[in-house]
Amino acid sequence: MAHEVKTTCPYCGVGCGVIARVGDDGAVSVKGDPEHPANFGRLCSKGSALAETLDLDGRLLHPEIGGRRTSWDEALDLVAEKFSQSIAEHGPDSVAFYVSGQLLTEDYYLANKLMKGFIGSANIDTNSRLCMSSSVAGHRRAFGSDTVPGTYEDLELADLVILTGSNMAWCHPVLYQRLASAKANRPDMKVVVIDPRRTMTAEIADVHLAIAPDSDTALFNGLLAHLSESGAIDLDYVSAHTQGFAEALQAASALDIPALSEATGLAPKQLRDFFRLFETTEKVVTCYSQGVNQSSAGTDKVNAILNCHLATGRIGRPGMGPFSLTGQPNAMGGREVGGLANMLAAHLDIDKLVDRDLVRRFWGAPSIAAKQGLKAVDMFRAVADGRIKALWIMATNPVVSMPDADAVEAAIKACPFVVVSDMQRQTDTARHAHVALPSLGWGEKDGTVTNSERRISRQRAFLPAPGEARADWWQLAEVARRMGFAEAFSHSSQSEIFAEHAALSGFENDGRRDFDISAHAEIEPADYNGLAPFQWPQPKGTAPQVKRFFAKGGFYHPDGRARFIAVQSPQARRANEAFPLTLNTGRVRDHWHTMTRTGKSARLSSHLAEPFVEIHPRDAQKAGVSVADLVMLESPHGTAIVRALVTERQAEGNLFVPMHWNDQFASKARIDALVPPVTDPVSGQPASKNVAVRAKRF
Ligand code: SF4
Repeated sequence: MAHEVKTTCPYCGVGCGVIARVGDDGAVSVKGDPEHPANFGRLCSKGSALAETLDLDGRLLHPEIGGRRTSWDEALDLVAEKFSQSIAEHGPDSVAFYVSGQLLTEDYYLANKLMKGFIGSANIDTNSRLCMSSSVAGHRRAFGSDTVPGTYEDLELADLVILTGSNMAWCHPVLYQRLASAKANRPDMKVVVIDPRRTMTAEIADVHLAIAPDSDTALFNGLLAHLSESGAIDLDYVSAHTQGFAEALQAASALDIPALSEATGLAPKQLRDFFRLFETTEKVVTCYSQGVNQSSAGTDKVNAILNCHLATGRIGRPGMGPFSLTGQPNAMGGREVGGLANMLAAHLDIDKLVDRDLVRRFWGAPSIAAKQGLKAVDMFRAVADGRIKALWIMATNPVVSMPDADAVEAAIKACPFVVVSDMQRQTDTARHAHVALPSLGWGEKDGTVTNSERRISRQRAFLPAPGEARADWWQLAEVARRMGFAEAFSHSSQSEIFAEHAALSGFENDGRRDFDISAHAEIEPADYNGLAPFQWPQPKGTAPQVKRFFAKGGFYHPDGRARFIAVQSPQARRANEAFPLTLNTGRVRDHWHTMTRTGKSARLSSHLAEPFVEIHPRDAQKAGVSVADLVMLESPHGTAIVRALVTERQAEGNLFVPMHWNDQFASKARIDALVPPVTDPVSGQPASKNVAVRAKRF
């Protein structure tokens, strides 16, 4: 019988509400949910094409061992046996999970509980490491917690919105539509786009600042120094709620305007005008995304931005604050359950004995991890050199998406035991699995996700599980039981897991932790099923609320004060004589990650049909490349062949290539094969935006 189900889009961090309709004939259609507070009925091209990606072509429908169909029992027994054997012979750090922002919070929670509480290692990391871990690290340094202070509404209330390192028009399209609509209603609102290339987002910008790659710290340091010189510092806020301002200002004052101009590639007048605009506008929101995070100095960039908002007290009030745009639908949900190797569940700190002890007692855990685990790049290095002997990859495709992707593929091929849980049978990663476990896809799986504004929404199933596919949380619980942890993994539904997660968030939480959803700690299955989208925090006994953080201080460092961080401008340019061009990787409007789903939609694939490189006409001429030629790109780590898109949108000396295509869709187009495994020293996030390459006609 025809029916409608309210659910959430599985693509970007905006987290739009979707109404899926299943007709009498089983055909699915989708529309935006007019009542969902993230999108109020809007959907972008990817979201509105969701129904075109639901066919079973290429799906993994049965468990497999070595490519041979097997039973769930045989597959799960083997996974538990191999992991237990490795732990017994080589210790808990000889195994690892590499998971994904595509997991639902309930899946993520059990994966983290199994690895950190029961196996006793913190070797669980996620592809969110590639996405927003520098924002997490920056928040924690400044605020003492991983807290996004504001809400989407702030972008509409601001008089100045700064978008730095964000092609919001293509990567967070519905939020961009909300911003564009607000600007159309209030033409005095200003938008500044800071990006080395002129993207679609710049179309609504009053100002586009085409900065040199990795010069954001210099720009925001210069802004802090200017705010101080012009008397725009909120001295009352700084003295009441922060510490470290003098040191940060000293570091920020290292470059004068000519030196800043040299570092950023911006004219002195552009710098002065931008600084003055920030100085004279009270309601400022600064949004930042992968262009800031994916850098060898990403955490410093984040703190350079946070410093400016702390210095002016423009944080946590309507229309004011820094705002991290997360790339994935559940990047924040993963953070809430400690999905990163350097975090614990419920935003607790793995480096603190008191926090480890709290989680250990709550879980009744036998062997809580005593130290941070391996972050993504280091994890695959450990796979390569044999320290990791059993690896479980869930809902992600690292052979395409990790930096130094050829080396990652070689490491996975050489690993003694690899498990892949995925909905697709033949991804570039899954083809190397010893055991392949069929997972549920969007429309079949059921749980919660958290979007960029801390809003928790339900993803609901409206299709039956195909073949023998099962939920990721079920797979984890079954393996945990077989490893001897039956009591702690007795969950029979996702609502039980959510309730446990909510209870942990409130466990001995006297307000010293930002993440608290203990109002849902005793949620019944029927209420879980009907759960309306809500923003955290929602402590026990409280109703859903719209909360902004830090307008009156209340930071999560022990003294309640925020920290200014003294940051230096990094050595920005990596290009050299042998590899003279700077490659920037990113996304296109109509594809998602490695195209395992959006690649199924002819409509989405028709927007940009093949992998390409945006190249400035003078660079094209130097490389002997004409419009639509095939171009060979080379770095010391690998090669890729893409189509030339010659355009002045791209600054001279810089290239842009999307990250989506892989060997299934185009030969030799995995752009991450070129990206070196260089990471931010604080966050461990790879630097995917500043890669030295050379180009020639193929
Ligand atoms: Fe989905 Fe993001 Fe588009 Fe919303 S903006 S429909 S969450 S891809």
